[in-house]
Amino acid sequence: MRHETAPGHELLSDDRQAGWRGVLLRMGRTRAVLFITAASVVVSLAVTSLLALALDNTAHMMTDLLVATLVPLLVAPLVSSAAMGLLIEVETARRALHEVAIRDGLTNLYNRRFFAARLEAEVDRARRDGTPLSVILIDIDHFKRINDSLGHAAGDEVLQCVADVLIAGVRPYDLSARFGGEEFVALLPGATMDEGVHVAERIRRAIETLSIPVLRDGSSPQVTASMGIARLGAEPDTADELLRRADEAMYAAKAAGRNRCIRAPY
Ligand code: GH3
Ligand code: MG
Ligand code: MG
Repeated sequence: MRHETAPGHELLSDDRQAGWRGVLLRMGRTRAVLFITAASVVVSLAVTSLLALALDNTAHMMTDLLVATLVPLLVAPLVSSAAMGLLIEVETARRALHEVAIRDGLTNLYNRRFFAARLEAEVDRARRDGTPLSVILIDIDHFKRINDSLGHAAGDEVLQCVADVLIAGVRPYDLSARFGGEEFVALLPGATMDEGVHVAERIRRAIETLSIPVLRDGSSPQVTASMGIARLGAEPDTADELLRRADEAMYAAKAAGRNRCIRAPY
């Protein structure tokens, strides 16, 4: 298994738009249209008055000011409403694209690329704050047998159910992701090794007792998983090293008979 942490910090960027587009989007369509219309009227009146004064042409000032008010009052709502519609469409598409870029299509968990970016960021944060950080690497046991005996669709359903266990099994500020085919990973910022093992055990038991009615008679295949838990050590420990140790511990769990959690030595 390769443990390159893919570049992907752009994936972490706040998905709220910055700049004037963000300001308009946060206002909402109606308020933005009102704001743009009011601004257009003010600018139109200012330009008209300044021109009239500069050209010394104030004979028809009242008419000029009326026109300078009415034209933007009629045009600005139409144009700004259409522009806001487009802006909202683009923003919706941008967000959907961002979700596709960071999520796994089958389980809807975060994908490996996003996980790698978050892991790097969390390692930096743990170093800065002096807080612990643990990861759990999870591999479903004999998953090929499930595919071979029950079919690929049943295998997919097992993956989705395991993903649900992971989502339910971690705290809101933890992050679970699909690492590869039947491999998952949980990132636990602030968790010591003991806390990591505690979470892993809870997830292991929840997987072991999963009921996934994929068989024709409604019965469920037995699903278990092996897990390796590693904690971030002092520098020069890195994200890649952390994952490598979790991976080794996971393989040690396989070798020790599967369906168990093993802590990585550090
Ligand atoms: P071990 O206990 O040693 O981990 O054995 P295993 O059978 O789980 O591991 P192995 O690596 O031999 O097989 C993993 C299988 O996972 C092979 C691959 O076809 C299957 N797989 C990978 N991705 C998917 C997927 O998205 N859907 C399904 N249904 N199967 C997948
Ligand atoms: Mg595997
Ligand atoms: Mg496996």
